[in-house]
Amino acid sequence: DKDTALLGRRQQPVELLTWNIWQSKGLSYFMSKRTLRLVSGGSLIFSAPKAQWGQVLRRLRVSGVNDDDIFIEKMELLLLGCLTSRWTRVIEGVMSVSYKSITVSEQYEELCKLLLQRCKSLKQSEIALNSKVEETLEYLTEMLESRFHLLWKLPPALTAAAIPSWSPLFGRYLGEIEKQLKPDLSTTRCCSCDKDLNEHKDCELAERVWCLYVFHIFCRCHQTI
Ligand SMILES: [Zn+2]
Repeated sequence: DKDTALLGRRQQPVELLTWNIWQSKGLSYFMSKRTLRLVSGGSLIFSAPKAQWGQVLRRLRVSGVNDDDIFIEKMELLLLGCLTSRWTRVIEGVMSVSYKSITVSEQYEELCKLLLQRCKSLKQSEIALNSKVEETLEYLTEMLESRFHLLWKLPPALTAAAIPSWSPLFGRYLGEIEKQLKPDLSTTRCCSCDKDLNEHKDCELAERVWCLYVFHIFCRCHQTI
């Protein structure tokens, strides 16, 4: 079955050096001046009712040159908007993560388990607490309808930290990752790793899985207190 196909081969755990690079990359993104500017601008926009911020967002002039760039920057703003209430926890979370010897497949497996658990015991109260975030994610999901592939243009740390596992977007994102991890599917691959080895070590795909693992399993930044 698909699990043995994924996990059948012996894989090497993520190397310490790679781990550290991904960790500082994520941290640098969250701490950059540009990100912090977007966060403060975004929190102003999203404090308004949805109908109003939706209009503002549509008319917003961003720095992107072509259609895709503009679209990506607006998505980034929306994802950061989902993060603002958890900002400190996310930064603390990334900083506190220490090395663990674990393979990409093991991380992916943990994420699938999380998805299954969430499907079974979806906490309505948790969603209610995050109605603002839910609205933002709904808007984002509609935007992404025909351009889902553009979600991959955003930093792996941002998508992982911003999308909660109760959102349908999480399942869809994980589904895209699964397509890339499975060697037998004729999907366009997002990395240039050896197809026959079926191993992703320090590529973008491995980084995306690692980011999801770190934010959802390792430091539990998504849990509401
Ligand atoms: Zn790869």
